Amino acid sequence: MRPVACHNHNLTMDGVDLSAIAAKAGTPCYVYSAATILENFRAYDVAFGDTPHTICYAVKANGNLALLRLLAQAGSGFDIVSGGELFRVLKAGGDPAKVVFSGVGKTAAEVEEALAAGVGYFNCESEPELALIDSLAARRGANARVALRVNPDVEADTHAHISTGRLAHKFGVDIGEAEAVYVRARRHENLSLEGVSCHIGSNVMQPGALMEAADRVLDLVARLRAQGFHIRNVDFGGGLGVQYRPEDAAPAIGEYIGALRSRIEGTDLHAMVEPGRSIVGAAGVLLARVLYRKNTGGKEFVIVDAAMTDQIRPALYDAYHEVLPLRQSGRGKLTVDVVGPVCETGDFLARGRELAEVLPGDLLAVCTAGAYGFVQASTYNARPRVAEVLVENGCWRVVRKRETYADLIRGEEPEKE
Ligand SMILES: *Cc1c(COP(=O)(O)O)cnc(C)c1O
Repeated sequence: MRPVACHNHNLTMDGVDLSAIAAKAGTPCYVYSAATILENFRAYDVAFGDTPHTICYAVKANGNLALLRLLAQAGSGFDIVSGGELFRVLKAGGDPAKVVFSGVGKTAAEVEEALAAGVGYFNCESEPELALIDSLAARRGANARVALRVNPDVEADTHAHISTGRLAHKFGVDIGEAEAVYVRARRHENLSLEGVSCHIGSNVMQPGALMEAADRVLDLVARLRAQGFHIRNVDFGGGLGVQYRPEDAAPAIGEYIGALRSRIEGTDLHAMVEPGRSIVGAAGVLLARVLYRKNTGGKEFVIVDAAMTDQIRPALYDAYHEVLPLRQSGRGKLTVDVVGPVCETGDFLARGRELAEVLPGDLLAVCTAGAYGFVQASTYNARPRVAEVLVENGCWRVVRKRETYADLIRGEEPEKE
């Protein structure tokens, strides 16, 4: 569900007027709905029912501390891909035992931090990584619980940059070689080989691909168990898509989890999932103000104060985000490109889009911007990163201040004596 609605010609989020937020917090800014985030988390939780499970929210989708706190308090675990994300989760009061550490390039320092924090699981992506974790665990006299991330070789049917489940991708261990890897890993005395994990890509709109991956992983689990491995845990990864275009049919969380559940019932396996986008994607909008209108080369441009530095998905993945004026004006529609101030032709938020005519000073909402938005922001063109706002219980508050020029040069100036 999207939290944005129209009341008396004004766009609101959970009943809070978005124009009022823009007026006080300034633009551009991200605004997130706490209610939608919790609703999505609970949809996962409820669908699992009494099947033992842990939902590990993928921090990389949106790592704001206020959001992590919200999810930690709701009982969520976390999927992390760096020491920095571990730092965020611990700051937010997340339970380290419910953390899984994923990623193809964990450094020794990051593994040390994760062992010290007592993270629940390492999802390992190569044999040298297994050896590293084993040796660092041995040095601490500890045992690390590991799952091998296997690559099930299925097509996720999503954008090439966010598809990860084919053998040609850098992620995981070829599922055909996984058994041999588990057997060789038996010599690592400080590893507990208790899990199998996978993740085939992001924004998957057809749950069929996810189910095919799940089936292959469960086959592997059965084979490993037959060889005497005590596999207790299966991690199905994240990847469920969300509705970006009005005509998109996003898979329902409950149906997807129901299908997973039916496959593991009676196996005494503990299920894990790592959803990111499907928890926070629909919960956020990016607010921007129109600076100028311009017609050049027969094209109508709407130049706004938000840019690819704030929201790179259109430039990076050719992504579509619905753009809505915050006030319905009754003006006629025009076909426009909505572009930012950055000196790059790729700096656009929407192209060739039908939009009710807007004028300088008007406000726009870039919808479904809660996932992979702020987290990919940069300060290119010396643009301070924007503010983030959380709407909760009919109120709103800034949960990350807009950066200042001083923030831009932090660490560049010689230390004062
Ligand atoms: C990115 C990622 C996720 C989250 O993917 P979503 O599409 O946002 O649900 C989960 N697990 C791993 C290992 C990832 O890299």
